[in-house]
Amino acid sequence: MIVAKFGGSSLSDADQFIKVRRILETEPARQHIVVSAPGKRDEADQKITDLLFTCHQMAQKGEAIDPVFSEVEQRFSQIAHSLGLENYLSSKLLEIGRAIQDGASLAYTASRGEYLCAMLMAKWLARPFVDAASLLHFTAGKLDEEATAHSIRATLLSCEGAVIPGFYGSDSQGDIHILSRGGSDTSAAYIAAALDAEMLEIWTDVTGFRAADPRIVPDAQFIASLTYRELRELSYMGASVLHEDAVFPVRTAGIPTSIRNTGNPLHPGTTITYRSQARVPVVTGIAGKKGFSIIVLEKNRMNDEVGFARKVLAVFERHAISFEHLPTGIDALCVMVSTSVFMPKKDAVIEEISKTVDPDSIHTEDHIALVACVGVGMFRQYGTAARLITAVSEQGIGIRTILQAPSELSIILGVDDINLDMTVRAIYDAFIRT
Ligand code: ASP
Repeated sequence: MIVAKFGGSSLSDADQFIKVRRILETEPARQHIVVSAPGKRDEADQKITDLLFTCHQMAQKGEAIDPVFSEVEQRFSQIAHSLGLENYLSSKLLEIGRAIQDGASLAYTASRGEYLCAMLMAKWLARPFVDAASLLHFTAGKLDEEATAHSIRATLLSCEGAVIPGFYGSDSQGDIHILSRGGSDTSAAYIAAALDAEMLEIWTDVTGFRAADPRIVPDAQFIASLTYRELRELSYMGASVLHEDAVFPVRTAGIPTSIRNTGNPLHPGTTITYRSQARVPVVTGIAGKKGFSIIVLEKNRMNDEVGFARKVLAVFERHAISFEHLPTGIDALCVMVSTSVFMPKKDAVIEEISKTVDPDSIHTEDHIALVACVGVGMFRQYGTAARLITAVSEQGIGIRTILQAPSELSIILGVDDINLDMTVRAIYDAFIRT
């Protein structure tokens, strides 16, 4: 049994609804489906969820929501009309519009895109609609995983092919709560995990994960399969498509996730698994991001001073700054942090470090980018770092820091941020381009 989640871009108009039906018809194992709210039809368009957030703001200020809510109505009515389901949502839309105008909560308002979309999809597919409010349970503002798993099993195991709205649930009072933005992936992951599904499919507008950002390497190849650990490394370093946090329930349950393209359903996409498949490449993917600073501290005989690093890191902790990496030398300690988090606190942090550990010198260097070269296949392979450094240095790029944990899952290079794209291309050409 497969749980299939369709994202906003896969539901943006009636043509997309038609594609969804075909996708389901071609694979009977795709049983329960989870939907987002209709997304953008083109760059200039607005997501239904964003329109609903605006409606809530307007209602809170006492303004009439009609100018914006009528866009929501039109989008749903157009889809319904084109599918031959004229007026199907009219009374629901009226009721929801009134509730928002009368001060309904932000969570209720934001969740109505998913709710309406799932109702319409259920009608279109002639499948039962199951409200997420009765499946995902919140206690004290947090998702209650046990109660949620119990409800999912009690409701869906005896139900054939339900259509469920993503992104929200409710508490014991019946009040709606939402997950974070993009949370329909997580809703689907909870459902797949509770039902012990064979697979979670995430249907979107791209054909899976690429080995590098196509804005940097336009012909970057698609990754057929990767592990959840690789996904985490790549998404942490800026690769978009799917964030590992979003699907943690299936990762924990050992259920694979497959990323598929609604516009190209025959393409197998990318499958993310707990363990890697039989033969893996040395490097699976490359990702990088800009915006890091390094605080460089030097002190003669630092290595003899037990507790030096702890005292320095305690200063960062007091200022709620988490560090990325900690490159060290014998008499040097460097703390790498996100520039945007560090900057507003820079003077206070430097002053406190100077007082606490009395370094010989302290200065900061900005405009650093990190590039991660990720692959479970690097484990116990000889020469990967040598090839990597050679490829980068042959482009005349200086490496500012280098990091590899003993798991050998990734090698992370720090470079000047103007060199980010060139570094990614150099690594891609050395390891992935065939
Ligand atoms: N519609 C919500 C959002 O735009 C949730 C989702 O699409 O997953 O964030």
